[in-house]
Amino acid sequence: YDYDLLVVGSANADLVIGVERRPGAGETVLGSDLAVHPGGKGGNQAVAAARLGARTALLARVGDDGHGRLLLDSQRAAGVDTAGVLVGGAPTGVALITVDPSGDNSIVVSPGANGRLTPEDVRAADALLRASRVVSAQLEIPLETVVEVVRRLPEGTRFVLNPSPPRELPAEVLAACDPLIVNEHEAQVIVGGELAGSPEDWARALLALGPRSVVVTLGAQGALVATAEGSVRVPAVRVEAVDTTGAGDAFTAALAWKLGAGAEPAEAAAYAARVGAVAVTRAGAQVSFPTAEEVAAL
Ligand code: ATP
Repeated sequence: YDYDLLVVGSANADLVIGVERRPGAGETVLGSDLAVHPGGKGGNQAVAAARLGARTALLARVGDDGHGRLLLDSQRAAGVDTAGVLVGGAPTGVALITVDPSGDNSIVVSPGANGRLTPEDVRAADALLRASRVVSAQLEIPLETVVEVVRRLPEGTRFVLNPSPPRELPAEVLAACDPLIVNEHEAQVIVGGELAGSPEDWARALLALGPRSVVVTLGAQGALVATAEGSVRVPAVRVEAVDTTGAGDAFTAALAWKLGAGAEPAEAAAYAARVGAVAVTRAGAQVSFPTAEEVAAL
């Protein structure tokens, strides 16, 4: 394999303005200077994996505009192979974020080019899929595109899905997941109702839908790894959390990479928990993701 991990997913420019108070209908408020950060779950996962040392490629779509160039530059700076990133068709996806002094935010996402990553684009990227040991996806691109990834998955290639933002999933997508990685909210939507009992019970309900394995992330409580054989808790590393943005993406990327490298699921999740722990000790998403040396030093 040329790549340890291929991430198929979104790339967004996060446009962040600090405000004293978030505006109501018809209201204008003045805010801080604009900060532009590279984001999107796909872009975040790719940067997280590359920074850890995984040979990583990204299949995504950005606009032929300044935000698109910024996103490509930040991917390349992290060491991601961006030959599979398509350019044009719509403006680069953006998230407009206002944050008030208490840290509460309001977000508007314009998917833009992410919404134009099509099944046809996946078919055209066949060589990239064949060159990758693990393929990781999220749901900030059209579901039909994720379905095509699953259909095109070469024999022996592992598929990892973080269904975020969550929606009900077709059986063929669920059956390909090894693992399906969810937090509590995502688990609830995938199961399609209130979750009863403990995270172990949620994992059993999810496994009944067909994935080969399930990982439930539990924030400061760590994670749970589950297969038909049973489940194992992976404790979080105790740290001073500063900003949890992107922790789930960093966790997912690290887990996908380690599983592809042959680690046992619990061992891979323990490593991913260390990566997530470093990410929460620093502000921001992609800028907060650690190198392998920083994970070792934790
Ligand atoms: P996101 O908010 O980025 O979508 P998520 O809800 O998918 O994230 P989390 O459970 O918040 O995922 O975080 C992923 C992993 O990162 C956790 O399983 C845990 O190992 C680690 N982590 C998250 N928050 C903390 C924390 N406060 N302290 C230590 N580790 C943490």
